[in-house]
Amino acid sequence: MSLLTLSGLTASYGATPALFGVDLEVGAGEVVALMGRNGMGKTTTVRAISRIIGSEGTLRFDGHDLHGMPSHRVARAGIGLVPEGRRCFADLTVTENLIAAARLGDWSLDRVHGLFPRLGERAGQRAASLSGGEQQMLAIGRALMTNPRLLILDEATEGLAPIVRQEIWAAIRALKAGTGMAILLIDKSLKELSTVADRAVILERGRTVWAGAMGALSDEITQQYVGV
Ligand code: ATP
Repeated sequence: MSLLTLSGLTASYGATPALFGVDLEVGAGEVVALMGRNGMGKTTTVRAISRIIGSEGTLRFDGHDLHGMPSHRVARAGIGLVPEGRRCFADLTVTENLIAAARLGDWSLDRVHGLFPRLGERAGQRAASLSGGEQQMLAIGRALMTNPRLLILDEATEGLAPIVRQEIWAAIRALKAGTGMAILLIDKSLKELSTVADRAVILERGRTVWAGAMGALSDEITQQYVGV
């Protein structure tokens, strides 16, 4: 059964429409890549799921209509968001950031430190003093501390050094292998996406134009819609 279902989803920024019909499903424990060129509506779709912007159409998570839910309830419903731009509390320490996000469940400081040892090493440092990669790890750690059933990563490796990217991808693979967590991934690296995602959904001008198994994604389709 599908954990997250978007069907015919539309959304606008003020009077300007941005989504015209997004269809997207993420099953329990499934990793889905949300793809498409710049400006095609990936981040707007994530904003609609997390109720940061309003939308119309079908938007269901775990049997609930998300349209009835304010944005601050979405984490409680089981959606952990790592937004584009990795927002953490700059003046709080690494540990304070993690604890501030914590909800009851399997994820603890120790478990986050196990996934990202650097967060353990930097536990007492202010978030503002971390490198970009460490801040990204902290943003993922914060989302995990909410004990999500669905983790959404919007450009989690953007702008990071190759070695740090590899650490983030290794963590995503570990989450896939070691937890039953569903993951919705947006990333520019088709190579990495194809190693971890079960399925892909492609957006073109605010609409779903292709959805299927990652293995069924042909070079022709990626050239046409993703520009690779
Ligand atoms: P990118 O990879 O560049 O982030 P994207 O696929 O995530 O691309 P969106 O950021 O969702 O695309 O943008 C979809 C459309 O909505 C674009 O036309 C964009 O210009 C517009 N848009 C995005 N954010 C805003 C905003 N805050 N206000 C008005 N329009 C916006």
